[in-house]
Amino acid sequence: MKLTALGVWGGYPTRDAGTTSYLLQSKSGYNLLIDCGSRAVTELEHELQPTQLDAVILSHYHEDHIADLGALRQYRQLFPIGQEGWDGMLLPIYAHAENKNEFAKLTLDGVSEGRAYDVEKGLKMGPFDITFLKMVHPVINYAMRIVERRTGQILVYTGDTGYFDDLINFSKGADVLLADVYFFKEKHRMPNHLSSVEAGEIAKAAGVKKLILTHLPQFGDLNTLREEAQNAAQTVPVELAQPHQKWQL
Ligand SMILES: [Zn+2]
Ligand SMILES: [Zn+2]
Repeated sequence: MKLTALGVWGGYPTRDAGTTSYLLQSKSGYNLLIDCGSRAVTELEHELQPTQLDAVILSHYHEDHIADLGALRQYRQLFPIGQEGWDGMLLPIYAHAENKNEFAKLTLDGVSEGRAYDVEKGLKMGPFDITFLKMVHPVINYAMRIVERRTGQILVYTGDTGYFDDLINFSKGADVLLADVYFFKEKHRMPNHLSSVEAGEIAKAAGVKKLILTHLPQFGDLNTLREEAQNAAQTVPVELAQPHQKWQL
């Protein structure tokens, strides 16, 4: 499967790039949008037509992960039926239903349908099997472990989270760990986000093949952030996410 970063900042967009959003594509032709931060639609258009999305999945309802949902739905609502094969397909938006108010907003008549993922049993979606783990964050956030059924390839995406030990087991053996790293090494055991060192330690302990740092901080030197994570991750390669960077798992 192929992962493409669309937006990479935590919190708010800056320096001509948006907040967290990623495109995951299977060779079978399935296109999944993971979180839908600001600028997601603009960046997505450089990769494919937003009408080609098969589904969206959300980690949580903070604005930097859902800011462009409205724009995405307007795009699909207003795109002429019949043009470039567009058939007006209802967009499934998968998310947790533990915030009833936010979950209800995902359904828009004739355009999108909110679907609650089962955080206990997991979810079968197109070519993927997805399991979930509740993270450490001020609002309910689920990390997702996405396995492509045909190849066995594994992407683990944390959404937003502070450090806790279960993250290691959940990330075990992943081809890519896409981790929220909003803090430099000076911060430890925060209630909302990982530090560079914590992400590196998880990657090493879980034996992942690659660690990608995302949900990046607007202040401080990102090369330092990467080096701190790399020192902790030791032999696991560590990269900073950038818009339109692609990884073949
Ligand atoms: Zn966030
Ligand atoms: Zn958040």
